[in-house]
Amino acid sequence: MPKVAQVEPITTARVLRGPFDYACPEGVEVGSVLVVPFGGRDLLAVVTALKDSSEHELSEPKQVLPASLPPDLVALGPWLADEYCSTPARAYSLMLPPRGVKERSVLYASAAREPAEGERLNDNQRQLLSTLPRLAGGDVAPLRRLEKRGLVRLEPQSHRRAPQHASVGKASGASGPALTADQEAALEQLLAADQGEQLLLHGVTGSGKTEVYLRAAAEVLAAGRTVLVLVPEIALTPQIISRFTERFGETVAVIHSKLTPGERFDEWMRIRSGEARICIGARSAVFAPLSEIGLIIVDEEHDSSYKNEGDPRYDARHVAARRAADHGAVLVAGSATPRAESWHRLRRLSLPRRVDQLPLPEVEIIDLRGASGALHPDTFQALVDSRKSIVLLNRRGWSNYLSCSSCGYAWECPQCDVTLVLHRASGSISCHHCGHRERVPDRCIECGSVSIARHGTGTERLETELPGKVFRLDGDSADAGAVLRAFEQADEGILLGTQVVAKGHDFPDVELGVVVDADQTLRFPDFRAEERTFSLVTQLAGRSGRGAARGRVIVQSLTPDAPALVLAAAHDAPTFLSEELARREALRYPPFSTLIRIVCASPQPGAAQQAATELQELLPGSLGPAPLFRLRGRERSQVVIKAEDRRTAVEAVNLAVGSIARGAGRKSVSISVDVEPQ
Ligand code: ADP
Ligand code: ZN
Ligand code: ZN
Repeated sequence: MPKVAQVEPITTARVLRGPFDYACPEGVEVGSVLVVPFGGRDLLAVVTALKDSSEHELSEPKQVLPASLPPDLVALGPWLADEYCSTPARAYSLMLPPRGVKERSVLYASAAREPAEGERLNDNQRQLLSTLPRLAGGDVAPLRRLEKRGLVRLEPQSHRRAPQHASVGKASGASGPALTADQEAALEQLLAADQGEQLLLHGVTGSGKTEVYLRAAAEVLAAGRTVLVLVPEIALTPQIISRFTERFGETVAVIHSKLTPGERFDEWMRIRSGEARICIGARSAVFAPLSEIGLIIVDEEHDSSYKNEGDPRYDARHVAARRAADHGAVLVAGSATPRAESWHRLRRLSLPRRVDQLPLPEVEIIDLRGASGALHPDTFQALVDSRKSIVLLNRRGWSNYLSCSSCGYAWECPQCDVTLVLHRASGSISCHHCGHRERVPDRCIECGSVSIARHGTGTERLETELPGKVFRLDGDSADAGAVLRAFEQADEGILLGTQVVAKGHDFPDVELGVVVDADQTLRFPDFRAEERTFSLVTQLAGRSGRGAARGRVIVQSLTPDAPALVLAAAHDAPTFLSEELARREALRYPPFSTLIRIVCASPQPGAAQQAATELQELLPGSLGPAPLFRLRGRERSQVVIKAEDRRTAVEAVNLAVGSIARGAGRKSVSISVDVEPQ
């Protein structure tokens, strides 16, 4: 038996790098989770290796927890840390089940013996006995009395806390509709793919991608392997989960950020024990402790929610590819608007037609030059003529900013270098970056003038300008699911909102989609602006015309000739993507390089810029330092690296950041590294 366990304590401190040696209690393996004494505290720790001796004096772990990580996840921790300039401990903290939660135990009542002729029982007792076996919920006293008489057996049993949308009980057994020829062909190629191969399923919206996933999953289960399904934010796309749970029943575990700790714990344990063999979930589900994965599906692979915004800034799509390679699983990334990276790297399967044979919606670009107001008269008329519509405007609030008409003073956030957005309903102006809020001013604080101008239109204001009943969905809505359900059930009306309205939802009777300001995403200073705009228009088009009528989409723009708009209107993803790839190759953008972004931030004037300058000097060929707008009272400055070789670049960045962080007087500067920022 090994005597020493090497462990990685779970702490957020960057300087503490394991592994550390501890005495190895009996039964502990690689992947076991311990509680260890560490620097006067008790910390959770993952066992990363076992050995026979150590030159250190060994402490005894205080506890061995029941959950353990499978070996492939243990190996994934240091890999993840290296890929994203983070630490193994932070990586492991993403993988562990929630702490301090136990299995839920409930009393289960079953018959202990048959009641004999003439047994004295009242009606209530007869009723109870006739419903056995069952869970003893509520008042258990009557059952306890029957237990005393030897009629009933009461035993504690562990009981799953099932998340919303999960299936409890049997699968429907339905095998789904007969596949179309396109679906058959895609499924056949998918099932014939080599172990570890990565595929792109490019299917227009409504082409039946999900049905292909379901069939492929069934085959993989039948072959004795497991399936991981990644989907964007769950609250907005419950349909795909329901389709998996209906088809496969309790073998489906659901994992996402809205689970209670108890639900998360139970789903995690069901996956780890092999009871659940399909895991479907959002970004964090990529770390599900499945063994023998045969298929990984990344649905809506273009979706930005796959990128984690906290440290480690991992990309679930990249992690999924690594897990597929580890397990010899086939990976399928599906989308109507794939990323240029995926188009370039993956073998393509295609579903070019809608299942219902309907043509794709007609997309019309309206030139907004010279128009006054947020809506062109033709757009307004189209909204009047349409029974149900979706209107997309990526700007919350009433208007973007306020300025004084007399002296030009503009209201800005005291913490960030951005203007404050007017929210009329709450009578406030607020910062969309840090949450700072103040009351709507009634006079200029510089010159005292009462003439204050409101600039631009956000969703709150547009709501008052639209014809008919409006269902508004944006960051100000308390319950997104409720708004979506109300719109779904309504006979007519307009769903108005920020980009969430273009995501995944399947409303059969929407006739019209409107992009109010296509230039807003196009103007965004980022090399992915074109791709994002193409995707937004195409996805919105996918939301309309799903019923009998052919859908229609209107895109308002000041640059109606922009290729991203023209090609989206022509439903021509292949041309858009090949032109986009040519542009990126010329400019050496991903997938022809790896970008790494380093942001230095500090409340001390000049400190962030100083640190970024030194970083830039340490990293030959890097771009910057470029000042960013001040955020939450901290000045910021960034350095960007375009690297040929990801490995070498990440290592160089790690070294440079390490040496800068140790520099004198650097306490006030925080440095964050984003590998492949989105
Ligand atoms: P996508 O995921 O590509 O948007 P879905 O898989 O959601 O498409 O399919 C769109 C609709 O068509 C769904 O309502 C689905 O049940 C239905 N569908 C899918 N495949 C078939 C088929 N072969 N025959 C009939 N209906 C189908
Ligand atoms: Zn003024
Ligand atoms: Zn602010």
